Amino acid sequence: MTPCAISRSSLRDVPTYAPDAKSCPIDLRDNANLWGAPPNAVKELRAVDPSVLSLYPAVSAGTLTSALAAFIGVREVEVAAGCGSDDLIDAAFRAVAEPGAVLAHPAPSFSMVPIFARLNSLQPVAVPMTRDGSADAEAMIATGARIIYLCSPNNPTGTVTSADIVRRIVRDSDAVVMLDGAYAEFAPDLEDFLQEAPALGRLLVLRTFSKAWGLAGLRVGYAVGSAALVGAVRKATGPYKVNALAEAAASVALAKDLDWMRARVVEAVECRARVSDALRGMGLSPLESRGNFVCVPVPDARMLAGRLAERGVAVRAFTALPVFGDALRVGMAPWPIMEQFLRALREAMA
Ligand SMILES: *Cc1c(COP(=O)(O)O)cnc(C)c1O
Repeated sequence: MTPCAISRSSLRDVPTYAPDAKSCPIDLRDNANLWGAPPNAVKELRAVDPSVLSLYPAVSAGTLTSALAAFIGVREVEVAAGCGSDDLIDAAFRAVAEPGAVLAHPAPSFSMVPIFARLNSLQPVAVPMTRDGSADAEAMIATGARIIYLCSPNNPTGTVTSADIVRRIVRDSDAVVMLDGAYAEFAPDLEDFLQEAPALGRLLVLRTFSKAWGLAGLRVGYAVGSAALVGAVRKATGPYKVNALAEAAASVALAKDLDWMRARVVEAVECRARVSDALRGMGLSPLESRGNFVCVPVPDARMLAGRLAERGVAVRAFTALPVFGDALRVGMAPWPIMEQFLRALREAMA
């Protein structure tokens, strides 16, 4: 018997998510908050009463979901929390689509999406973005997909899909539309649809505490949409997906670290502009990013990333991305670190 015969046949050719994890003194690969974790949330974790560890947390993170609902201005039944937004993407896929259904996603976009689609026996269909890095509304709608996944600002390009296009896709398709706003905090003037989603009925907005909020290690995400949609997602995640420490820390961050988060966003946005300028000064053409990272097309991403790694700087290399070709994705960090990155890149390109 071959070793893989034990797994479900449709699982066998699903790739394992295994990003290069070699440790590197400067690591700009993950788009996490490299300014650190929110201070009041950290204080809360240090002060946690150990008795909470032996008990189950709330079934559906009620403290956090009610705080989020109040913060956003929607009803609690219109918010679901999960073990990272990954958990909610995964759960939402199986909550709304039958096995075999088509899921359309822009290409390039979040690499986990086709993986979660296939893990849930869905059929992912990659729809090339337009040259300016927006989702192609007509092409997405034409797939007739049951689920249309959108990501704005988009990972890995940093580019956005306008509110008009999101609205058009919701209006002119029969799909459940998922709008992944993992980087929405870094584009504060972009319409985020949090308040509008419940009334739109078929729109689910996905958000996370992993990026701007600086809590990637705790794994907390949330989804906002109509009560029917959110109820289905909650059912599909199963109970207890947000652990007690994660719920406590995220709730405190929301209540007490909003200013901290916004100040870090301002710094990341400044870095993004300075890094993009510096890259243009080197003759490169970075995409117009609205996230906490910059995506820059290069002739040979793997070679350049290798040379950067030799100089102690890790970035994410993408080869042959649809529309954009080879590119490096570089996460933002305090400026002295970005200067080290730029120095290493100048040497690597020399
Ligand atoms: C980082 C990222 C997420 C994952 O967030 P978690 O909440 O940490 O699971 C989701 N979507 C996109 C596009 C991301 O880049």
